[in-house]
Amino acid sequence: MRPQTALAPEAPLIQALARGVCPIRTLMRAFQNAMLEAPYRYPAVSLCNFHAWSLAGASPAVEAVRIFRSMLEEPPVRSNSGASELYPCNWCVALREQENEKLAEFTREMKRDKFRGWVIEYGTVCLFHGRRLIEILPEPEAELIRQIIASNQKLESQLSEFDVKVRRGEKGGGGVLGHIAEFVVSQRGITR
Ligand SMILES: [Zn+2]
Ligand SMILES: [Zn+2]
Repeated sequence: MRPQTALAPEAPLIQALARGVCPIRTLMRAFQNAMLEAPYRYPAVSLCNFHAWSLAGASPAVEAVRIFRSMLEEPPVRSNSGASELYPCNWCVALREQENEKLAEFTREMKRDKFRGWVIEYGTVCLFHGRRLIEILPEPEAELIRQIIASNQKLESQLSEFDVKVRRGEKGGGGVLGHIAEFVVSQRGITR
């Protein structure tokens, strides 16, 4: 699903912060949408299953034909980066690069009062990026991210309570599941 007002993938992080979901993930989605809308700008000789299906289903057909044809004609070049990634997906690689740039930008921006203030106020990062940020941020900024993640964990205790009720055969409390579905969807990876 597309966000209502699409952000440009190169938008500054602070623009993505106010959306109530992980800003890094938001910009990665924007980047992925941009690749699918205009694949000619992001040449690929190798695509993972997810991106091959996305190209088939979501890109302009003319573009998809062109890319698939070139893949059929030219087998991808084997990389030396290990057995599990003989043919790394060009789009996944581009996404990982953008992700690393955005993590670095997040770290730099945390030194600025305005950005830090927004992080405190809107305070949403997904678990994956939260953990990466804790590794790279100095204190006390890393502690801010720990607090954000701790508030995510409240959902876990709500889920455990709900589980106990369900096992007792109690009805109701389905709102908890809706809440968790919302959270899980907002955490969802780019290629999952
Ligand atoms: Zn991929
Ligand atoms: Zn994230």
